[in-house]
Amino acid sequence: MFCVAYKYPGCVKAPGFFMPVLYLPVMKHHFLVAKLFLLPLTFFAQDTVKPYLLVKTTGQLPFLEYGLGDDRLGGAKLTYLDTSVLLKVTDSSGGDYKVQLSKYHSAYVAKSNVLQVTDKQMRPWYLSSSWRVYGNDQYDFVNIGMEERLPYRSVQQINPARIVVDIFGVTSNTNWITQLHSVKEIKNAWYEQIEDDVLRVFIELKHKQHWGYLIAYDSTGKKLVIRVKRQPEKLKPSQLVVAIDAGHGGSNAGADGLTSKALEKDYTLKFAKELQQYLHRKGVRTIMTRETDVDMSMPDRTLFLRAADPSILISLHLNSAGNPNVKGTSTYYRYIGFRPLTQAVLERMLQLGLNEYGNVGNFNFSLSGPTEYPNCLVEIAFLSNAEDEQRILDPKFHRSVAKQIYRGIRDWLKNIK
Ligand SMILES: [Zn+2]
Repeated sequence: MFCVAYKYPGCVKAPGFFMPVLYLPVMKHHFLVAKLFLLPLTFFAQDTVKPYLLVKTTGQLPFLEYGLGDDRLGGAKLTYLDTSVLLKVTDSSGGDYKVQLSKYHSAYVAKSNVLQVTDKQMRPWYLSSSWRVYGNDQYDFVNIGMEERLPYRSVQQINPARIVVDIFGVTSNTNWITQLHSVKEIKNAWYEQIEDDVLRVFIELKHKQHWGYLIAYDSTGKKLVIRVKRQPEKLKPSQLVVAIDAGHGGSNAGADGLTSKALEKDYTLKFAKELQQYLHRKGVRTIMTRETDVDMSMPDRTLFLRAADPSILISLHLNSAGNPNVKGTSTYYRYIGFRPLTQAVLERMLQLGLNEYGNVGNFNFSLSGPTEYPNCLVEIAFLSNAEDEQRILDPKFHRSVAKQIYRGIRDWLKNIK
């Protein structure tokens, strides 16, 4: 039901069997140790026996997945992780390792996203220490003292707007949270030890709208840093830097037209350029992921955007379905805090007389994955539907779409209190 695949390389899953071999020698060792010292097995389980493989994340954009599910865009992602984050591997399946995040939580990671660690063992627990909540001239920060680079995940909550981060394998020894006057977006920061080895961090925002955040360890690995984006002082389009992503490109042509055989990659670029020009006329700064017919991988786009640090991202694609009667326009988001932008853009797109295909949440499109800025994927219309295809080929329609997306952004800003 969609334009061509966006899966990351290296996360293809084979329906393999879990390998119990990892456990066998370990269990033997367990009993041997227990018999020798006539002490409870549990005493040794944490201190001397290592019934797992220790790995650390590597590569550009390592991520965890909830399970072994798979679809056209890959399985549902739990979180992106920083590099060199320690993970305990307890099992293996095809191209993935199962990793134990805490006593009651596990996840999966692509084997290509980790390296084996042989020079250290995981301690049975780690402690958090003091926090510092402060701002510089651009962002707010929550720095959390840590003993090791451990895995985490985050969710956005709305009403009230909060960033909630779970850090796995950590028990609190945080008795000091310094909060400085320099913060502009963070209203409150606190924690709760929700399980013995899961520390939940709450960051309450001053504004209703989420503007994004980035979680990473500092260079020492002794601080987990949550960098929070601030709301612009004036809520006008001219205060934003809008990133525009023209889907596909180069050898990745995307979908093609029902009768015209027009390629998605060519038309997403036409729509993107039209939007760029329209935004410039309105005094809005823009960033383009591509301006010509070039190959650009999804990780490359993601990293380019991370470095460019836009206020928002608009990704442009054209849809395609096996059934030629399916038509209409749709917008997509991954995180609930970014939904309002996608709703505002869809509302304006529907004024063009397009069929409503819908507003889609929890979507696992790669460029919906970053948490750093609000983002909106627009599947403008269906290349596989005759009526939609005629519109897509019409330059007047390109201009109308640009105008409506601009209006959607403007409406979204107006609705932010
Ligand atoms: Zn596409």
